[in-house]
Formats: sequence, structure tokens, C-alpha cells
Amino acid sequence: MPSDKDAEKAPGDSVFVCSQCGECCIGYGGTFVTNQDIERISAYIGTDPRGFVEQFCNLSGDRPVLAQQDDGHCVFWDKVCTIHPVKPQMCRKWPYIESLLIDFENWNIMTSMCPGMKKDVSSRVVKDWVKKMISCTES
Ligand code: SF4
Ligand code: SF4
Repeated sequence: MPSDKDAEKAPGDSVFVCSQCGECCIGYGGTFVTNQDIERISAYIGTDPRGFVEQFCNLSGDRPVLAQQDDGHCVFWDKVCTIHPVKPQMCRKWPYIESLLIDFENWNIMTSMCPGMKKDVSSRVVKDWVKKMISCTES
């Protein structure tokens, strides 16, 4: 098990390095987009927010989620994320989700779905990253 001292040398890489396998970009769980996401992505792909929601989103309840291609991949997946610089908050936060602050066991469950997440990591390092992501996305 890595020590906190080891983790401090390279905090991000010590717990997660994305292999860009795309596993998290497939499925019907729903990638929610905030109003800010909609504005950023619309500007990036050169459309207006209303047209973006109509063309690229479905509704989950009354909230827009990114639509899927026929094979279940996100509408913006094409071997890589084609909107990477402006991808939704939900995608940018992964795997540093807020529930880890409440129950760190979630990390070990999530590692079975995401090969980029390392097992037996320092909970303190992960929780620090969760807090950083919250402060980044709130600003
Ligand atoms: S499943 Fe994990 S490793 Fe694969 S693309 Fe998603 S974040 Fe990266
Ligand atoms: S926006 Fe990009 S990172 Fe997010 S699910 Fe779609 S393809 Fe994956």
C-alpha cells in the first residue's frame, strides 16, 4: 500500500491515470450537462445552446443528458472525446466524485469499472483531489 509520503510526490498520477479506454463514455447512465456545460460546448462546436440541447441531448426527468450513438457511446465519442477541452463537469470530475468524501469504499467499487483508477490508494490523497475538484468547478 502506498504511503501518503509517496503519494505526495505525484498526487494525481499516484491514484489515477486515464488510459483513454472509453469505458466511461458508453452506457445509458446519463452524463448530465449543466447550463455552463451547455454554453461552453455550444460555443466550442459552433452552435447555440438551444440547438445544442435539441441536437445532442436527451432529457432525464427535466434535466438534459448527452445523447448516445446507436452503440451506446456518448454522442461526442469518436475513439477519443471530441469535446475534451470543454467536456461536461461530470466528465472532468471523474473519478473524484463527492460521495468519496462520505464513503471511501466507493473508490474500490469504481476501480472495477475504470482501469485508470489504482487500487489500495491513499484515501487522504483522493479526498484532497475531490475537494480540489469541487473548488475548481464551483469557481
Ligand atoms: S474508464 Fe477510466 S481509464 Fe477509461 S476512459 Fe474512462 S476515466 Fe479513462
Ligand atoms: S463528453 Fe467526452 S468524456 Fe464525457 S462521456 Fe462524452 S465522450 Fe466521454
